[in-house]
Amino acid sequence: MRTYSLKCDCHTHTLYSRHAFSTIAENVRAAKEQGLELLASTDHFSDMLFPDWRDLRNYQYFSGYSMWPRVWDGVKLLHGAEVDITGLNGSLFGEDVPLTTTTVGQPMPREWNLFSHTTRYCDFLIASVHGTTFATGCTKEQVTQMYCNVLMRPRVLMIGHPGRSGLAFDIDAVVRFAGEHHRLIELNEHSSDRFYGEDGVCRKIAEACMHYGTQVAVDTDAHICAKIGKFSRVETMLGEIDFPEELIATRNRVAFEKALKDAQLSAE
Ligand SMILES: [Zn+2]
Ligand SMILES: [Zn+2]
Repeated sequence: MRTYSLKCDCHTHTLYSRHAFSTIAENVRAAKEQGLELLASTDHFSDMLFPDWRDLRNYQYFSGYSMWPRVWDGVKLLHGAEVDITGLNGSLFGEDVPLTTTTVGQPMPREWNLFSHTTRYCDFLIASVHGTTFATGCTKEQVTQMYCNVLMRPRVLMIGHPGRSGLAFDIDAVVRFAGEHHRLIELNEHSSDRFYGEDGVCRKIAEACMHYGTQVAVDTDAHICAKIGKFSRVETMLGEIDFPEELIATRNRVAFEKALKDAQLSAE
């Protein structure tokens, strides 16, 4: 059976996400210990974090990304966000919140909304469905269109864990669309075994990626440093279907940086 040696983990969380437990320093150390070349830290940008979520002061963490070392302990460090998809039209969390004051209460010098301000220093975004209330009663076609719309949003590199979102969509259509537009589909270690078994939706997604030549991101979605860089569940499934390593954008740093560049060029 084919085996893999993946050198990037591009969906991870820190303490900032509230239901995660490690600092960025602990995550970087874990990435180094696992022999990773690249770590991306992608905390939640979502209303699951703060009850008073419209206050910009809750999101200063993302604005401080420019302080982070680009290479830390020999590990290339990217910063992003896992942004909630909030509407069937492909809208993203915070876009509907205009900002009028800065974090120190002065008038905002230019037009920002919570989304544009918070994500301005992100290298890329993962767009995920968490709460599904907005999609109550929707059709499979609407969800398919939603994912295609989301993939075309600036700086959205990938759909996060589409297999476990709970919303049915046309896998072939979304996977083909992602490949045509140089975007990635995530295979997420944090999704349970049933998604990766014989009839599991994540396995079906992987098979479609293989069929259409669409690149995937294999990520842990680690919420604690002990999980960083450990992809055994996804790797086992990929081995079983003989998935080619060259379609895994997270196989090494050079491949992931190229995938990111290709997505940016395609968005221009
Ligand atoms: Zn989470
Ligand atoms: Zn998620």
